[in-house]
Amino acid sequence: MSDFDVIVIGAGFSGLYALHKLRDQGLRVRALERADAVGGTWRENRYPGARCDIESIEYSYSFSEEIQQEWVWTESMPAQPEIEAYLNFVADRLDLRRDIAFGTEVLAMAFDETDALWRLETSGGAYAAPFVVAASGILSVPLEPDIPGMASFAGESLFTSRWPDTDVDLVGKRVGVIGTGSTGVQLIPVVAREAGHLSVFQRSAAFTLPWTVHELAPGELDGLKADYADIRAAQRAHPVGAARLSAFSVLLDMLASPPIKTATREEQLRAIDERGVMGALNWGDVFFDIEANRMATALYGEAIARIVEDPDTAAALVPTHPFACKRPIIDQGYYETFNRDNVTLIDLRNGPIVSVTPRGISTAQGDVDLDVIIYATGFDAMTGALSRMKVRGLQGVLLGDYWAEEGPLSYLGLAVAGFPNLFTVQGPGSPSAATNFVAAMEQHIEWIADCIGYLRAHGYRTIDAQPGAQRDWVEHATSLVAPTVLTHPSCNSWYNGANVPGKKRMYMGYTAGIPEYRRRCDEIAANGYQGFTLA
Ligand code: NAP
Repeated sequence: MSDFDVIVIGAGFSGLYALHKLRDQGLRVRALERADAVGGTWRENRYPGARCDIESIEYSYSFSEEIQQEWVWTESMPAQPEIEAYLNFVADRLDLRRDIAFGTEVLAMAFDETDALWRLETSGGAYAAPFVVAASGILSVPLEPDIPGMASFAGESLFTSRWPDTDVDLVGKRVGVIGTGSTGVQLIPVVAREAGHLSVFQRSAAFTLPWTVHELAPGELDGLKADYADIRAAQRAHPVGAARLSAFSVLLDMLASPPIKTATREEQLRAIDERGVMGALNWGDVFFDIEANRMATALYGEAIARIVEDPDTAAALVPTHPFACKRPIIDQGYYETFNRDNVTLIDLRNGPIVSVTPRGISTAQGDVDLDVIIYATGFDAMTGALSRMKVRGLQGVLLGDYWAEEGPLSYLGLAVAGFPNLFTVQGPGSPSAATNFVAAMEQHIEWIADCIGYLRAHGYRTIDAQPGAQRDWVEHATSLVAPTVLTHPSCNSWYNGANVPGKKRMYMGYTAGIPEYRRRCDEIAANGYQGFTLA
C-alpha cells in the first residue's frame, strides 16, 4: 500500500493538468516539482524576448470553460511573463498547490515488480505509487556546449534556459550570443537594443519568418471568448491543434502552394516582392524535394539581401540545411537587427569557436572581448529529462541506456515497453513537438486518465507496452516522414536528436496530425488497450 495512486513529475503545463484531471477522478495524486514554483519550461526560459509562437487564445487550456473565460490575455501571442502568470493563476484557481511538493527533484525511480509500485528517490525523500505520469517536459534539459574554458570567463555567463529571476543589466555592455535557434532569434533583437555591442556567434543560419504580435484591442478578447466553442472545435479538428495563425499553420499553408520547380523566374520574384522571406519559401514541393528546397533557399537568400544591407552579412545569414527540417521559427525584426551599427555576425562556418577565455570568445577567425556571454544552445529534447532520472524498469533496465542503445523507442509516445505503469506525456513518437504543445498535451493527459480509470475499474495492476506494438508504431511514425526533407542526412535538428553528441538519430515526432493520432489512440483504448499487456 502506498500513500498515492499516482505521482506526477513536473508542474508545468502538463503536470498541472495531470494533477487536476487525476485528482478529479478521485485518485490520490502528488506532483513533484524540482523548482519552487509552477511553470516548468515557461518559468525557466525567462530570457528577454521569450514568447510563444502560437496565439494565446489557442495556446491555453481548453478543458475549463471558467478558466478560459476568466483569464485575460493582453497580446495575440503571449510573452513569457504572461504565460507564467497564467499558469500561476490556473494553479490557484484549481487549488493545485496543496498537492505539489516543490523543491523536490526526482533523482531515481525503479519499478518494484513484487508490489507493482514505482519507488522514487527524490531530493525531498522517498515516494511510491502504482502509476507515474512523467510530465517532465520535452525541452527541459538544457544542452550546455562543451567549449573549452567556459568556466574561465571573467565576465557574466548567462543561459537562456535558466535565466535569472533578477533583472539582468546589459545596457552598454559587450554581449556575445551563441546560438541562433528559436531562442537566439527571439533574444537577439531585444539584446541588440540594450547592449553596447552585440556579437552573434552563428554556427547554423536559421530560417525565420517575420511576424507581428499585436496587443489585443479593447473588446477583441471578449469577442474571441464569445466564440470560444467554435475556436476550440476548429482547433480540435486541425492537424497541428492550432487553427489560427501559428508557426505551424504557416507550414501547412505552404504545403498547399504550387511547386517552385515549375514556377517562372518572374513568379519567384513576385513571391519575394509581395511577401519577402515568407514568399521565398511558400512552395508546395519544398517539403519533399531537396532540389526544390535548395531553389527556395536560394530565393530566400535573395529576400534576405533585400533587408540586410551588408552583402557579406546577408550571405552569411543564408542557411545551408534544408528548410522545414528544423522547427519553424518566427521573429520580430531579426534580419533588420543586423543593420544596426552595434551588431556583428560571426559566421562560425568560416572558423569555429576554439575556446572561451577569461576575456571573451576565441574563434579560428580571431578573438572577441566580451562582458557577457549568453548561451542559447538548445536542449536534450524529448528523452533528456527521463534519461537523466535513472528510471529502472523490468529487470532493472535503465531507460536512459535503453534509449541510448535502441533509439528513442516508444509506443504512441505514451509508454515504453519494459517500463510498466509509466506514462510519458509528449514522449517520442507523439505529435508533441510538431504541433501546438498544449492541445497535444491535453489529449495525452485525458487518454492517460481514462487508461488509469480503466485499469482500476477492471482490477488490473499493471499495463506495459508490447515490444512488437512499439516497433510497429515506430515504423509507422518513421514512414510518415521518410518521403520528406526531415530525414535528409544534412538535417541536424533536435527533432531527430542530431543536436546532442552521441544521441541515436531518429525523428521523434508524429506528423499525421493530432486528429489522426487521437483516432488511433482512441481505437487502441476501445479495443481494450491493444498493443499493451494488462495484468
Ligand atoms: P535549438 O533550436 O536547438 O538551437 C540551438 C542553437 O545553438 C543552434 O543555432 C545551434 O547550432 C547552436 N549551438 C549549439 N551548440 C553550439 C556550440 N557549441 N557552438 C555554437 N553554436 C551552438 O534550441 P532553441 O533555440 O533553444 O530552441 C529549441 C526549441 O525550443 C525550439 O525549436 C522550439 O520548439 C522551442 N522554443 C520555442 C519558442 C517559441 O515558442 N517561440 C522560443 C524558443 C524556443 P546548430 O544549429 O549548428 O546546432
